[in-house]
Amino acid sequence: MSILPHHKYPSNPLNHVRSCQFHTRVVCLATTTKPRPNPERLMVEPRSVTPPPLVTPTRPPLLDDPSLQSTWSHRAWVASGCTTVLISLAKSIWVAADSQIWFEPILAGLVGYILADLGSGVYHWGIDNYGDESTPIFGPQIEAFQGHHKWPWTITRRQFANNLHALARAVTFSVLPLDIACNDPVIHGFVGVCSGCIMFSQQFHSWAHGTKSKLPPLVVALQDLGVLVSRSEHAMHHRQPYNNNYCIVSGVWNEFLDEKKVFEVLEMVLFFKLGVRPRSWSEPGSEWTEETEAQSQFG
Ligand SMILES: [Zn+2]
Ligand SMILES: [Zn+2]
Repeated sequence: MSILPHHKYPSNPLNHVRSCQFHTRVVCLATTTKPRPNPERLMVEPRSVTPPPLVTPTRPPLLDDPSLQSTWSHRAWVASGCTTVLISLAKSIWVAADSQIWFEPILAGLVGYILADLGSGVYHWGIDNYGDESTPIFGPQIEAFQGHHKWPWTITRRQFANNLHALARAVTFSVLPLDIACNDPVIHGFVGVCSGCIMFSQQFHSWAHGTKSKLPPLVVALQDLGVLVSRSEHAMHHRQPYNNNYCIVSGVWNEFLDEKKVFEVLEMVLFFKLGVRPRSWSEPGSEWTEETEAQSQFG
């Protein structure tokens, strides 16, 4: 692992941690019965645990690569995800109409839309920074997102169900029990909108990589209005230092999360508590940085 040049993180107070050459653990020297972390009494010493390895995809998928195509299994999961979301929304509307209570379900839906963006950011940050392709459940997503950083344009070539099936499966398993057990219009207003936005977040992400002239005019209008994550905002995520603009539904949380350094604080907490370094602290290597389409074809 190499040391990060300081100019990559100007004025960042975390530089001393980012630039540690060795994987480290922090030891508190306090001798009270209940030791508390004290920044002045912390020392850093080498640790033998290896950092989370970078996933190293070697080649971009070709245009007709099966990994970009939708299978019937993908389509079935997307159909089941959409069905469970539609049942939730239909229940919300049905019960709201029955009881003539509209304000709370609509407000719950709005909250669901806003929190879905936050959820997409937290999830994206997690799989960008921790684990590898062998991680249970999340391994394929981690590998796919690392491949996405190297060859971002391939997401626009990925077929619809191929892109959405993993989140659609998660939505099916989490929303279906609520569809069966719950009749509250407010809960369904929140769950229906939130889970729908999360399920389609990968489509919004794909559109954020699209070319303006090739995108449907409605999508461009929604991006320009900030209803969907914009192309320019998401482009920042694919530039150094690769540790911001993680949210991919509307992007409404990105500015707040990045200005307040929320993810950097979470990374510090995880590092001090568990000794795990996020990938974003490592110097971006060839596995992490974007390769242009021309480089991939001729390189
Ligand atoms: Zn990412
Ligand atoms: Zn992207």
